[in-house]
Amino acid sequence: MGESRYPNSVMDSDGRDGVSFPCPPTLDIDPATHCVAGARFLPSPNADDRPDSSDISLLVVHAISLPPGEFGGGDGQSYIDDLFLNQLDTAKHPYFATIRDLRVSAHACIFRDGSLTQYVSFDRRAWHAGESTFEERTRCNDFSIGVELEGCDTQPFTDAQYTTLSRLAAGLLRAYPKLGRENIVGHADIAPLRKTDPGPLFDWQRLRFELEFPR
Ligand SMILES: [Zn+2]
Repeated sequence: MGESRYPNSVMDSDGRDGVSFPCPPTLDIDPATHCVAGARFLPSPNADDRPDSSDISLLVVHAISLPPGEFGGGDGQSYIDDLFLNQLDTAKHPYFATIRDLRVSAHACIFRDGSLTQYVSFDRRAWHAGESTFEERTRCNDFSIGVELEGCDTQPFTDAQYTTLSRLAAGLLRAYPKLGRENIVGHADIAPLRKTDPGPLFDWQRLRFELEFPR
């Protein structure tokens, strides 16, 4: 990738954007910033304070592709970045006009090549889950971390995505003690009537295995 279009991106020592794949064997969460150390950070305006910033007790795995079913669009920058920054150019695809008023975000997205971009620090509330319920608690955004995988219901996720996701999850489990391994769910698990993501091809056993036996 060439020059970053975002002056506030964290650049690594090679001058490239943030965490690229292969990502480090551990992904550490900086306790001061609540961000993945070294990751590209593009702050989304679609976020606010959690009601209780010490209650981070759920990890929600999502999948997104823009336009649906397509990966990696946007002149070297992702349309997913654009969506979370409210910068999606509706002239680029007819689908984008249908979501022009969406104000959403996730804490982070893991792209097909395993690279990770963060949009909201983990101590703040990202707008990813919508109407949702986990173990009889509603408003899951209040107490959860939302991570998007670039993907869809009909194509398998990549090896690089599983590696980065498991390393991120391990870092989050270390950083936020209320977040247990049993509290990692899919968006479809907390909003089953509205959502299918991360979809039938997401391999939960593989994620659990890689968490147990990190590579
Ligand atoms: Zn979702």
